[in-house]
Amino acid sequence: MRTQAAQRFPILKPFPTDYDFFRGGRHREIRRVYIHCSATGQGDAEAFDYYHRVQNGWNQIGYHFVINNGAGDKIGFPAGIIQMGRPMSKQGAHVKGDNAYTIGICLVGNWDFELFDILDARVQSAIYLTEALIEAFSPEVLLHRDAGKVPGVPNPGKTCPGKNFDGGAFEQCLLDQLGRHPARLLYEQIYKSFIQRYRGYKVI
Ligand SMILES: [Zn+2]
Repeated sequence: MRTQAAQRFPILKPFPTDYDFFRGGRHREIRRVYIHCSATGQGDAEAFDYYHRVQNGWNQIGYHFVINNGAGDKIGFPAGIIQMGRPMSKQGAHVKGDNAYTIGICLVGNWDFELFDILDARVQSAIYLTEALIEAFSPEVLLHRDAGKVPGVPNPGKTCPGKNFDGGAFEQCLLDQLGRHPARLLYEQIYKSFIQRYRGYKVI
């Protein structure tokens, strides 16, 4: 089961040196990246895929990426591991009224209850991933709760990714790290420990 899940939702290769990886979505215009939380204590791409199919009747997970929190999920991914969800070439289902030109990143957890820490492995992985997406698509980056700032998009009426999620600190860290890639170093550490634990995983 473990291998099947990993193959269905591959783990993001940690060091795309030329960002070719992201160009698969080029035929869909990407204008914005949205940061979400799962509002759950645990979960992974496989679990959200199941939930979105069964509960929402969708044909696939709504998010394009899932960043694991390492807490008690059945696959046991450590915090910060990024899984691919719906292919970026396909429109996602994560922001009402703004899915056509956007990418959805879901961090497992709930910052309505958790305290925000910029050094949290999930936050650092989100910065790393967002940075790569900026290099590939030059999108605007928004928290889900701020979707109403986009002309024509309704206010979602949500705190997602949680009231304690510090959008200003996130943005500042993203700006500081753009072009310097320290987030990638942290991701390498996480990734290496993961590979040591799960040697034999198929990793794209
Ligand atoms: Zn959300």
